[in-house]
Amino acid sequence: MSNYFIILAAGKGKRFNSNIPKQFHNHKGKPVFMHSIDKAISSNLYKEIILVINKRDKKFLKYKMSNKVKIIYGGNERSDSCFKAINFLKNKKAKNVFIHDAARPDFTIKLLEKLKDELKNNIAVVPYLKSENSVKHIQKNKIINLNKNNIYLTQTPQCFKFNILNKLIRKNKKKITDESSLYIENKKKIKFVKGEILNKKITFNSDLKISSRIFYGIGFDIHKLIKNKSLYLGGVRIPFHSGLQGHSDGDVIIHSIIDAILGALRKKDIGTLYPNNKSKFKNIRSSKMLYPIITLLKKNNFNINNLDINLICEKPKVSKYRNKIVKSLSKLININKNIINLKGKTVEKLGLIGKEQAIACESIISINKYE
Ligand code: ZN
Repeated sequence: MSNYFIILAAGKGKRFNSNIPKQFHNHKGKPVFMHSIDKAISSNLYKEIILVINKRDKKFLKYKMSNKVKIIYGGNERSDSCFKAINFLKNKKAKNVFIHDAARPDFTIKLLEKLKDELKNNIAVVPYLKSENSVKHIQKNKIINLNKNNIYLTQTPQCFKFNILNKLIRKNKKKITDESSLYIENKKKIKFVKGEILNKKITFNSDLKISSRIFYGIGFDIHKLIKNKSLYLGGVRIPFHSGLQGHSDGDVIIHSIIDAILGALRKKDIGTLYPNNKSKFKNIRSSKMLYPIITLLKKNNFNINNLDINLICEKPKVSKYRNKIVKSLSKLININKNIINLKGKTVEKLGLIGKEQAIACESIISINKYE
């Protein structure tokens, strides 16, 4: 299997009104570019998937990806990025290469299979659609009517025999909008196959399928501090004179987050899910309790907008551990650090918390559902 799948995701998207490039926005439950990666992996057609991004966008890759995915940095123009990807493959004995724009998340695996089959007897296979609109061509102040039946609107993924594409790309000096243009300019034959109407390019913000339904959830938890137990907060072990009493490790941050998520999902509470009379949950690490809740959230197509946490204790000082805790939560919940906020709140030495005999935490979360 020497097929390779290149996903071009280095573009800026000038018509898309956002500081975050469109390929990193959410669409139907995950970032736009992840749709292409997931489909390429599930198709089982590819040895490697090459994701080409702009170096400045590295921060948007917050998802854990299969080790089949190789990330490389692209150039300023699409043709530069494509050149870099082809160059990356030059010693890999690639036979076939598929090139795809990350901004088209809605193609089907069936299309990949069709392209692969057609490539057996062709050097280049390109999906196209006919134009639904009348088309005019403007040339030096003259407008010419074109027969729309003769117009081919080309899409990606496009696939090619690697050796020929490699040669064409190396001698090309122009900016090209897709690789099939290279074949046309060099008078090489392309097999055109019917593309997919739903395989649209995301161009404007309104192309993203995000529901405006937002849900909020609130969670609260408190545990007593006891000697001879390790203190865990947000999944981080914190050096302290005592730990939190409880059936599990007593991690109040994680427990309050679980309740906040369950609240937003309208799925009751942590006590219903993890009854403390069940021995299988005894001494369980709270991160293990959080994992199924995150899975539930994803399975139901929910995305987290933000998470705000108040840790209420006299000590330890939150400022000292804030970065560590936020980093740990971002890993456990699989969300970007910059949508998590952790605040520390003391209680003026009042009551059990003030006497360092207990720690409490409250969290609020906002989630929205994708269509
Ligand atoms: Zn608890």
